[in-house]
Amino acid sequence: MLRQLVSHNDDIKRLVEKGYAVSFDAAYLVVRDIPYLDDKGALQTGALVSKLVFVDQEHVTQDDHQVYFAGSVPFGLDGKPIPNLGGSATQLPMSEASADVVVQRSFSNKPRVEQKFADFFDKIESYVAIISGPAVERYGATPYTFRTVEDHAEDSVFTFHDTLTSRAGISDLSALFKDDVIAVIGLGGTGSYLLDLLVKTPVREIRLFDLDPYHVHNAFRSPGRLDVGEFGKPKAEVYRLRYDSFRKGLTAAPKFIDASCTEDLDGVTFAFVCVDRGSSRAGVFDLLLARGIPFIDVGMGLRRQGSALTGTLRTTYYSSSDGQKVKDMQLAELSDSPDDLYRSNIQISELNALNACLAVIRFKQSRGFYLEEVPYYSVLFDIGDMKTVGSFQDPKRIRLQRVQYMPAVLEPGVLYVSEEFDIAMHLCACGCGTTVKTPLGPTEWSVEETAEGPTMRPSIGNWQQACKSHYLIHRGEIVWALKWSPQQIETGRRAEEARRTAYYAALYRKKGFIGRLFGFARRLFLGKDAQ
Ligand SMILES: [Zn+2]
Repeated sequence: MLRQLVSHNDDIKRLVEKGYAVSFDAAYLVVRDIPYLDDKGALQTGALVSKLVFVDQEHVTQDDHQVYFAGSVPFGLDGKPIPNLGGSATQLPMSEASADVVVQRSFSNKPRVEQKFADFFDKIESYVAIISGPAVERYGATPYTFRTVEDHAEDSVFTFHDTLTSRAGISDLSALFKDDVIAVIGLGGTGSYLLDLLVKTPVREIRLFDLDPYHVHNAFRSPGRLDVGEFGKPKAEVYRLRYDSFRKGLTAAPKFIDASCTEDLDGVTFAFVCVDRGSSRAGVFDLLLARGIPFIDVGMGLRRQGSALTGTLRTTYYSSSDGQKVKDMQLAELSDSPDDLYRSNIQISELNALNACLAVIRFKQSRGFYLEEVPYYSVLFDIGDMKTVGSFQDPKRIRLQRVQYMPAVLEPGVLYVSEEFDIAMHLCACGCGTTVKTPLGPTEWSVEETAEGPTMRPSIGNWQQACKSHYLIHRGEIVWALKWSPQQIETGRRAEEARRTAYYAALYRKKGFIGRLFGFARRLFLGKDAQ
């Protein structure tokens, strides 16, 4: 790396030739052996660190006029801190290769006339003159040690330097992924967007698995440009080639992962399961659980409500400790639902992308890159109300019971649905004992029956009750949502009203007088029972 930069950047070359102990750390230029005086007038040695901006693979330029300094406050011959250095106390996470360089402060000293340094040579020389001047004079110290600092082979997985990460000062966070070997099982819509995000994450290795060929419909649900030469080739190979120029450690196997593929998962530290068939999941889940590999499964359920599409995106995390428990909750579809619109290959790439984002964010939380405030094992995004809800505690379940008339006493854990009267009732899931009445209808709640239990939309917010609980019923599970602020409650209420008004206005137009009567009767009914 040093040699490469020296041969392409004249200013760096001049620094080395002059005798500075130059080295590189990710995207920092490091100059060690900088002599200075401490507060007692004693000789100390520090290091200057400056951010590099990579113009391309070989050429670098400055970020700004500031430098970082590993060392204490430099003093002058008069025993006072050197004036006009500016800057402040700061820290900068460096890689292990630069463990000896502990940045403590930054300096900001603009050249008076030009207002900026011509190049790195100009910048380093200028700061050294200020910082080392007194030490040179008193002790005859020199920054020109001609020391070669071992050039730690830059083992970046990226073909180009990830300069943004070092500029943001989060290299330490990026290092969290350095030992990760990721398997992406299934490269359909969500899998391909997921890959696009993972490629740009500094994980060591990414292994792609998908048996299917790349067809036109895939192009409509995957990121990036279209190359007609890719049609008919295995998806795994198409995507490997597409991202080959970006990073190292990307391999592809055009195969379907099942119980026999145990070797393919050797060394895998995390997997993403993005298969669109429920029946394909079972085998993959069993294999991953048996190998103790944590994974995230993504899924999508879509349906038509009226003329529009709606549905739910699901991101479920099977940690190495709780994976089996989460599997037993049956959050993911392990069989095929014939009615699911998503299976019929409609193009909704924004939903694929969002699902992929949620999955990668959850993965990065598990590695400590993002803050994990709540340890969700399942996150749902509802398209209709654009809300994200999650499960993090042992789930409560609710089953569906169809009735004509509501029983006088309701049992907990049962959602009673009377189709005749277009209403559902249940006892508040928090256990407070309140009866929750939910009218059913196009502008009200809807109940869908799944193999695991009822799904009810939208969420249930018991704002009027003391408990103010807020949850979603999804496939027989109570999924807790965040409590709403009074303002959110008000906004929600207004949206509900607007939805109703729009619906009945449309109905009037369509149905004339009969519709008007119907709407009137309906509003009377709803007005009485809503919540
Ligand atoms: Zn309650």
